[in-house]
Amino acid sequence: MTDTLDAQLLSVPQERKIVTAIPGPKSEELQRRRLAVVPPGVSSALPVYIQKAHGAIIVDVDGNQFIDLGAGIGVTTIGHTDAAVVAAAAEQLGDVTHTLFTITPYEEYVRVAELLAEHTPGDFAKRTVLVNSGAEAVENAVKIARKHTRRAGVAVLEHAYHGRTNLTMAMNFKAAPYATGFGPFAGDVYRAPNSYPYHDGLSGAEAAARTIAYLEKTVGASDLACLVVEPIQGEGGFVVPAEGYLPALHEWCTAEGIVFIADEIQSGMARTGAWFASEHFGLVPDVVLSAKGIAGGLPLAGVTGRAEIMDSAQPGGLGGTFGGNPVAAAAAIAVFEQLETGEGFESAQRIERVLVEGLQKLADRYDIVGEIRGIGAMVAIELVQPGTAATTKAPNAEAVSAVVAYAAQHGVLLLNAGTYGNVLRFLPSLAISDELLHDALAVIEEAFAQLGA
Ligand code: PMP
Repeated sequence: MTDTLDAQLLSVPQERKIVTAIPGPKSEELQRRRLAVVPPGVSSALPVYIQKAHGAIIVDVDGNQFIDLGAGIGVTTIGHTDAAVVAAAAEQLGDVTHTLFTITPYEEYVRVAELLAEHTPGDFAKRTVLVNSGAEAVENAVKIARKHTRRAGVAVLEHAYHGRTNLTMAMNFKAAPYATGFGPFAGDVYRAPNSYPYHDGLSGAEAAARTIAYLEKTVGASDLACLVVEPIQGEGGFVVPAEGYLPALHEWCTAEGIVFIADEIQSGMARTGAWFASEHFGLVPDVVLSAKGIAGGLPLAGVTGRAEIMDSAQPGGLGGTFGGNPVAAAAAIAVFEQLETGEGFESAQRIERVLVEGLQKLADRYDIVGEIRGIGAMVAIELVQPGTAATTKAPNAEAVSAVVAYAAQHGVLLLNAGTYGNVLRFLPSLAISDELLHDALAVIEEAFAQLGA
């Protein structure tokens, strides 16, 4: 690592600091420039322009330092500008930045595939295709499952989110803002009820029976190529299914020749204190999708599946210009190597303990906190209207927006989630200290106090 890089990393103290209005004047100026050249369809949750970042802190152009509880939606899982990732990517940049794996291959791609084979659930021969984004991983998984099964149907669950490409728009639960006006959409996508214990009160077995009965009736198992499931739903609001739900669905898929695809794009790569969230549920999917946290911030995604399924695609049928780019692959190898030390997993468990304890205090004081849920560094609270926690659990998106806005003004970047926008989600990097978590929780407590709830 160069001296300059070292100095750059050290120049981001791990503390919250607000020195201007939010957004500050330089961000406002950049926002004006942006509005002239970037369409509003690409929106930003908080229009402060980030200049540098390290660990769990992002610094904007006006010198404000935010505690980042979103990590770019679960991407910088091992921390912003992680030294090993930066060093690996920098070295790779100097060696080779691109050849196109489908023209002349390179070792880094193969190594990432080996690491994914080793660390995804299941002790069987696996193959991996690397692509650029989560949505592209979903598209490829569906494509491969269709080729393998010679069937067309794609089953998804309520509250799912899978991306913004044409097929994935059709797979998402929420139309607005992801799909509104962007049709026609891909056909043969069937949406079944999920397991959402806080709302449906069903056991895993009951919820699975409901999902299966729905799909049997509305499509028929023999027409389904795959079932695509987020083991813990991300954009849907960190919905953790009831125990036994996922294995029961998988059993049904296996019996019916349906490929079970786990979309672990948000929940994978140590986010939940396991390599993949499937492990918490005793689930061994046929295909696992990874993206976000895999390369420490560089664009990379993987489709890893049983060899016999993955091998169904004909030579030339998979790939793309940038898929498995050497720099992104080198960064991913550095991420895997660090996670292999086991520290990241312990950190995820520590983060869960601190967050849940802090959020429980809020729940004890405010009846709008309907449920605290999640695993590892993937924790959320669902907010409901006052007085409805024991009855209708009516969504309280206004409170979520107010808390997010207050937190931003006070140097905490917090994300919302949920079909009804009434979930606060916490997905900090594993590098965050207890001190920063406590500091962020204190700001969130102030935000709740301001609600007058
Ligand atoms: N699946 C899940 C579970 C996701 O959380 C996301 C991104 N939020 C995607 C797919 C799409 O990934 P990308 O934005 O990289 O296309």
